[in-house]
Order: sequence, then structure tokens, then C-alpha cells
Amino acid sequence: MGTTPYNPGMHILIANDDGYLAPGLTALVRACAGLGEIEVVAPEQNASGTSNALTLNRPLSVFEARAEHGCRVRVVNGTPSDCVHVALTGLLEHKPDLVLSGINNGANMGDDTLYSGTVAAATEGFLFGIPAIAFSQVLKGWGDLDAAAAAARSVVDQVLASARQGPYLLNVNIPNRADAANLPRVVTRLGRRHASSPVIRQVNPRGEAIYWIGPAGDAREAGEGTDFHATANGKVSITPLQVDMTDHARGADWAHALERSVSA
Ligand code: MN
Repeated sequence: MGTTPYNPGMHILIANDDGYLAPGLTALVRACAGLGEIEVVAPEQNASGTSNALTLNRPLSVFEARAEHGCRVRVVNGTPSDCVHVALTGLLEHKPDLVLSGINNGANMGDDTLYSGTVAAATEGFLFGIPAIAFSQVLKGWGDLDAAAAAARSVVDQVLASARQGPYLLNVNIPNRADAANLPRVVTRLGRRHASSPVIRQVNPRGEAIYWIGPAGDAREAGEGTDFHATANGKVSITPLQVDMTDHARGADWAHALERSVSA
């Protein structure tokens, strides 16, 4: 399938969580060239793992950065959600038709999606009623990044060609392979990870205890149909996400246990 023809009426906002200088962001912007009007609003610093946090205890500053790709880049000294929130509510002249996030330096699968700033930036667009897609490379280190960017562009083209009514929120994880753009793609559900490794306790130079959060655990639920299974088998994983965290399956049981009418 071909690439989507340039549409001057199409506005695309691109953000990330690794910071405005991250190679994954530049690669994604370059790969989307020709799709429409692209604006980039990204965090000043690496904000991985900040989830959906908004900065409420101080004002945010925005400065414009130079970029070789020619798209306008604005930098926010805040979180990924701050970037998209400020972009949508104050910076951008046009409401975007699409919000893209990434490409992240490392996987966002299973429980990672709850902590991920990459997914959060896309989620912020989704919460404003805009179709949004988050992209991550499975392994850290930017190996085969250009191939991942080509895969991301191909997914965007396919999504746009499908002419789905928004909003929707897709979480895409791309194996680090030179043939990433030509790999099979599967729609998956989130797997589960084992609990993170124990916190690492150290002593700082002043003799006080400090604690490092340990690395994420290995996949625990990685069966057929999960994002972990797909990427482990050389496929691009596409998980449709939703924000409603209601446990619908247990609602009736909890109602039985907890509900009561006020009686005299
Ligand atoms: Mn990141």
C-alpha cells in the first residue's frame, strides 16, 4: 500500500517522553513528512515513566528549538501530558487531526502502559477527542530506528486509509529489526509483567539511605494474543487502548457486597 498523499488540511501534533532531542522523535517527524502540517511539542528533559502527570505546582515555560527536519518544535519544561495539554489548549492554531507520540526508547507493553509517558502523551490527545497513536521500539538503544520510523509511518498510513471515526488510542510496539516496516502486524491485548524487582537501597555521601526503583519485571502473561507474544515472534504489536478503568466484570459482585439503601 502506498503512502497517504499530502493533505494541507491535515494537522498532526507529535510529542514524546524522551525529550525533544531524542533520536526517536526526530525519526518519527521525518517519517511523517508529507502527511500534512506537523507541529512538535516535546519535553525539555527525559520524562520517561511520568505517566499522565500534569504540572500544577509551577508555571510552564515554552521555547522554540531549531530542528533540521524543518517542522516547528516547541519545548516545554514539563511532562509529556503537559506538552500535549498546553499544545491543545494554548499553543496550536489548529486542533490537530492526529496526535502521535514517540518513538520511545524501549517497549511499552503490558503494565508499562500505566507508567509510560509515551502512551500518556497520546492519551492526552485521546482525552481531548483526537485520534492518537503511541510508538515504541521494543529494545532500548535506537537499534534499527529508521526501520521503526518507516514501520510507524506505514501504520499511520494504514490507520488513515481505514478512515476510522475517532477518537481512538493505539499503542504500537515495534521490534528492533532492519525489516521492521515489512513485518507482520497484529492487533493484541496487553500482557502482564511480574512485579518490579526490589528497590535498590544505597547510602548517599551524607550517610542517608537512598532508594532506586528497580527495573521492570519480566513478562508474566505473555501468551498468544498479547503484545509480548507478538513482538517476541517478530511482529509489530498494535493494542487498542481505552481509559475507562472500571472493573465492569466485578461490578455486580461489589454491588452485592457493598451497596445499601439508607434506612431510617
Ligand atoms: Mn521514554
